[in-house]
Amino acid sequence: MTCDNVQKLTDLYLDSQLPEELTADFETHLATCKSCTSELQSLIQAHDFLLAGVAPAEVSPAFLERTTAKLYDIFADRLHSSAPKEFDRQWTLPFLYEDEPV
Ligand SMILES: [Zn+2]
Repeated sequence: MTCDNVQKLTDLYLDSQLPEELTADFETHLATCKSCTSELQSLIQAHDFLLAGVAPAEVSPAFLERTTAKLYDIFADRLHSSAPKEFDRQWTLPFLYEDEPV
């Protein structure tokens, strides 16, 4: 694996989405390349820094209720479409059916 390959695959590696065989090649390259190892360490530090600084978004129940009602109004005509039953829910929003079992 080349430095260019490592740079292109770094995001997948950091997200643990790199296939096993490529992960082995990726890590073998890192073991012999100071430049890629340094670059990866910088990205990991930046990633960890961003994760620590960004609090998870919290949505108030009132906002959720207003948004749900608004979406229901917008898509109400599609909830009662004449589409065949097997396609009934394909193009609708699942949360609109929260009272029904899935
Ligand atoms: Zn390299």
